[in-house]
Amino acid sequence: MADNVSSLPFFYGNITREEAEGYLRQGGMSNGSYLLRQSRNYLGGFALSVSHVHKCYHYTIEQEAGNTYAIIGGKSHRGPVDVIDYHSQETDGLVCLLKKPCNRPKNMQPKAGPFEDLKEKLIREYVRQTWNLSETELEQAIISQRPQLEKLIATTAHEKMPWFHGKISREDSEPLLQNGPRINGRFLIRQRDASSYALCLLHEGQAMHYRIDKDSSAKLSIPEGRKFDTLWQLVEHYSYKPDGLLCVLTQPCSRGDGDFEAMPMDTEVYESPYADPDELRNSVVLREHLILEDGELGSGNFGTVLKGTYKMKKAQKQVAVKILKNSDNDGAMRDEMLREANLMQQLDNPYIVRMIGICESENLMLVMELADLGPLNKFLQKNRYLSVKNITELVHQVSMGMKYLEENNFVHRDLAARNVLLVTQHYAKISDFGLSKALTEEENYYKSKGHGKWPVKWYAPECMNYLKFSSKSDVWSFGVLMWEAFSLGQKPYKGMKGNEVMQMIDSGRRMEPPANCPDEMYDLMKKCWIFK
Ligand code: ATP
Repeated sequence: MADNVSSLPFFYGNITREEAEGYLRQGGMSNGSYLLRQSRNYLGGFALSVSHVHKCYHYTIEQEAGNTYAIIGGKSHRGPVDVIDYHSQETDGLVCLLKKPCNRPKNMQPKAGPFEDLKEKLIREYVRQTWNLSETELEQAIISQRPQLEKLIATTAHEKMPWFHGKISREDSEPLLQNGPRINGRFLIRQRDASSYALCLLHEGQAMHYRIDKDSSAKLSIPEGRKFDTLWQLVEHYSYKPDGLLCVLTQPCSRGDGDFEAMPMDTEVYESPYADPDELRNSVVLREHLILEDGELGSGNFGTVLKGTYKMKKAQKQVAVKILKNSDNDGAMRDEMLREANLMQQLDNPYIVRMIGICESENLMLVMELADLGPLNKFLQKNRYLSVKNITELVHQVSMGMKYLEENNFVHRDLAARNVLLVTQHYAKISDFGLSKALTEEENYYKSKGHGKWPVKWYAPECMNYLKFSSKSDVWSFGVLMWEAFSLGQKPYKGMKGNEVMQMIDSGRRMEPPANCPDEMYDLMKKCWIFK
């Protein structure tokens, strides 16, 4: 059945038609060579790509109502594998018999689709909100109702997407498109009536409107266009190729784009909670003033980070609480955490996560300001539509936080996108001072006693060669962070080992600019990576 397809060596997951052709070509394009991939327009469907006489042919395998599968208009089978078995015996409309599977390159996993990550979260949210169930009942409901839930969630997921504006008029949609960055491909989708939508697209300053109709089998398409089961698949497809539109979709015009967006100074965490003279600064947080919530914000070596509320004299603050693992309550980890807390205590800047206090209770806990949207790299991976302006704004804030650190003679030593946390989409704070050092009066650098578990790809040559850390080596790391940010959370020096990176840097080579990175920003990265 379709469930175990991902273990097939010739199943590639959510790759495009062009990528499929690339793999068939790499595989030699012999007659009847084939691969299977996930359909990018039909839910639960597949596509079969076959090569024959130096050309590629693509067939959609649809999932039918009774959970059977068929090449559109062809015979029904129990699963996609049966479809393939059948067509290795009978052409029955195919260009040739399927002869030889074109397997995935070594170490390549089937590619996950954009919906996979979101799906689990939405299913859980839906079941929790709709039925009043205990945790165990909830798990059981999800298991037993999974196919129906997946379909329901997939066909309504667009309501959660920033580009979906609900029932607004054509007249109202135009200023929304025009009032943002006027780049080709800025888009939104609005609902027209129960069975149609419109895709609104900015092209050369003009708003274009394409109707999206739902046919009798609930498939969505723009006139004469390809058919999709869901709006987000349609958006994925046209973000990837114009296929009849005036241009590809580039940047969503988000709901709320034109609305008031909280500026950093309008948030709770711009100023220290102790800036209010009525709140006495006290580095000890009493356990009875701290309420912890279920659900982790994250975890690390030391233990977990939970969300919580800190009841101060006047205010109630939402906080993040780093909790030391039980097993380490007297170990070296405890000393490390106290050292980090002590260092953070000395810092007070809007672009740095502040320490609020330490709570000694069932475990040692470090109470910090909350940066709810989590690490920058993960946020960017999930929100690929962030504008260049938005990214620039965030890295600029990091640079302001780092300027403060330098002025106060601290070196961070672990500056990376994973250690920048977001308060909002427009507000970043530097965190994780586990490796940081306060410099002494005499020296403007820190000399390490030896190599440790180091983030080598973020380190300047002098860190590796002379164990020397200064604000200048933080600048080098800032360049790598910029590269991560403009590449929307990709890993730097992908696939390379630490020593290979060092060799590359020694020989004078540097990372290429990320796709669509403005020249000025890449020039700045390269300046961060100047040897001296
Ligand atoms: P280690 O100390 O083992 O290197 P780490 O560096 O990953 O672990 P942190 O970065 O301090 O540890 O915290 C782990 C995760 O917890 C973060 O990646 C983030 O998702 C979450 N987190 C930490 N601090 C906060 C905070 N102030 N607000 C919101 N989330 C946070």
